[in-house]
Parts: sequence; structure tokens; C-alpha cells
Amino acid sequence: MRTLSSNEEITRLLKDRPEQTQTYEVTGELAGQVPLDAVGLRRMDESELRELAEYLEVEDVEYFRGPFRVIDAECPRCGRRITFLDFVKTAIDNGVHDRTQLRAILTGEAGNWITIRGRDGGRPVRCARCQQALRMSNGYSEYSSSNYAYA
Ligand SMILES: [Zn+2]
Repeated sequence: MRTLSSNEEITRLLKDRPEQTQTYEVTGELAGQVPLDAVGLRRMDESELRELAEYLEVEDVEYFRGPFRVIDAECPRCGRRITFLDFVKTAIDNGVHDRTQLRAILTGEAGNWITIRGRDGGRPVRCARCQQALRMSNGYSEYSSSNYAYA
């Protein structure tokens, strides 16, 4: 796995995206400083953080490396507001990551990461409540925390 160590490298990848969506480890605090074209990202509230903590078996939301920001979107079928949980649950259900890995990433224990959406249009996400497949429109970031970003 490649490690990204400068803002320039990240910016270059955002401009000239890889063929496939890829996750990279990044050094230091770069993940929190990614130039997110964050139109419409909102901060997750306390109850949403608790829901995520419960799913990941994190004892307290204080362990998360927030703030967690997420695309401001709703499930067209059941009206659920999309949070990190929907992305996390989809990744785990699809076998892309396991729960332990994601817990380590979101609590900062596993370092800093960025996922760069590829020209393949990114990863599908399903509603955590009703399983409806959600299509996020391309072209902007979907979520970020101080040590993880999806751009
Ligand atoms: Zn739904």
C-alpha cells in the first residue's frame, strides 16, 4: 500500500484520479487537511455518533477522532439521514473491511487514511436501515474526520 506524504500528492490524485477507488495511508495530520470540496458536508450529531459507536463496539464516542462530517443526504426510501454508519456498514457487509479495522481507523489507532474515489465512480453505499442502494453523485467528498477522508 502506498503512503502519501504531502498535500501536493493528494491534490494530484484528486485531479487525476486513479482507475479504481483506493485507500492510502497518509502521514501526520494530512487527512484532516485534505482540500475537501465539501459542498454540503454536515457534522454528525451526538445521537448519530452513539449509533456508530454502538455498531463498531466503541465504548464511548469520546474515542472517535472527530469531528465527523458527512454528506448531507437522505435515503429516498425510508428518509434516514446518511451518516458514517451507512458507509461503514456497507464496507463491512461487502467484506471490504472488518469491524476491528474500521474501529481502529476511526479511533485513530491505525493512523491516518484517505480514500480517493476512482474513475470507477466509487463504492456503492446502502442505507443502514432499509438496505436501499444509494447513489451518491460524483464530484464531491462524502465524509471526513480528523484522520480519515473520502474524497
Ligand atoms: Zn433507507
